[in-house]
Amino acid sequence: MTTVLTLHPGADQVLLRSELQRLGVWAQPLTAPGGQPAGFALAAHSNPVPGATLAALPGVASVLASQSGHPLLDARKGEAVHIAPGIVVGAGHAPVLVAGPCSAESARQVRQAAEAVKAAGGAMLRGGAFKPRTSPYAFTGAGVEGLRWLRDAADEFGLGLVTECLSERDAAQVSEAADLVQVGSRNMQNFALLKAIGAGQKPVLLKRGASATLHEWRLAAEHLLAAGADGVIFCERGVRGVGDETRNVLDLGAVAVLAAIDRLPVWVDPSHAAGRRDLIAPLAKAGLAVGAHGLLVEAHPDAATALSDGAQALPLDALAALMPHPTELS
Ligand code: PEP
Ligand code: MN
Repeated sequence: MTTVLTLHPGADQVLLRSELQRLGVWAQPLTAPGGQPAGFALAAHSNPVPGATLAALPGVASVLASQSGHPLLDARKGEAVHIAPGIVVGAGHAPVLVAGPCSAESARQVRQAAEAVKAAGGAMLRGGAFKPRTSPYAFTGAGVEGLRWLRDAADEFGLGLVTECLSERDAAQVSEAADLVQVGSRNMQNFALLKAIGAGQKPVLLKRGASATLHEWRLAAEHLLAAGADGVIFCERGVRGVGDETRNVLDLGAVAVLAAIDRLPVWVDPSHAAGRRDLIAPLAKAGLAVGAHGLLVEAHPDAATALSDGAQALPLDALAALMPHPTELS
C-alpha cells in the first residue's frame, strides 16, 4: 500500500513529521517548487495507521492511499488536463491535433508549420529545440533560439506549444516557454529530470520508453505529479518490436487500457511509431478508434531537407485529413 498525505498551505511540516514518527510511520517529504513541503509519502512497510487517524493530523489536507503504487495518478482518473485556455485534453473532450516539425530549424520553417497546423484545425504546435539523438553527430537542435521561434509562431497563430526538455539545466526555461513540457521516450525513467520538470508546475507530455511496461510508465507519471506537475498526458509512440519495416510497434492495447480502463489522458504519436509517412494516417485513425485523446504528428514544409526525421514527416497540406470530422466522433 502506498499512502500520500497532502498538506494544507502553511502546514507545520516539522510538527506533522514528529506526529507521524510518534505513530511509528516512516514518512518521506515531497517537495513542491521552491522547496515548499507539499506532502509526505508513507513507506509501504510503515506501521499501518487507519486513514481517519492520518486525516485528523494537524495540517493534513487529504490522505490518498492505493495498492497500485501511484495514488496521485489514481486520484486524477477521469480528469482532463487543462493545458491553456481552450485546450483541454481527456475524457469528454474532442481529440486534439498537435503537429509540427521534429526539430525547429529556422524561424521561417516553424512559422510555416504553425500556419498549417492552425489551418488544419490543430490545437498545438510541436517541435524540438533540444533534440535527443542516437548519433552524437546528428543535429541536436537550435536550443534557446529554437524555443523562441516556436513560442513566437505558436503565439502568432493562437496555438499551444509542446516541446521537449532534455536536461535538468533547461527545465525552468522550457517550462516557461511551453504550455506542455515533453519528456522524451529516452528519458521516461530519468528520475532527476522528471523531478526538475515536475517542479515547473506545467502539464507534462510523458512519452513511453521504448521498452517500458505500463506499470513503469504510470510510475514515471507519479514521479512528475509528486514533484508538482500540473497533470500528465501519456503519449504512446511505439515500443521495440521484432520487425524492421516500421521503426517501432504502436501499442494500441496500451492506449485502450489508459483511455478506457484507467480513464487517463493519452495521445498517439504515429510518426515515431511508424517511422514512415505513409503509415501516419492509418495509425492515427487506429489510435483515435481505441480512444486516444490526441495525435502528435511530425510535419515539415519540405521533408526532403529536414534536419531530423524527414522520412516520417507529413507534408503540411496533409494534416487537415488526419482528424475525423466532428460528426464522425461518437
Ligand atoms: C519527439 O517527439 O521529438 C521525439 C524525440 O520522440 P521520442 O522521444 O518518442 O523518440
Ligand atoms: Mn522526431
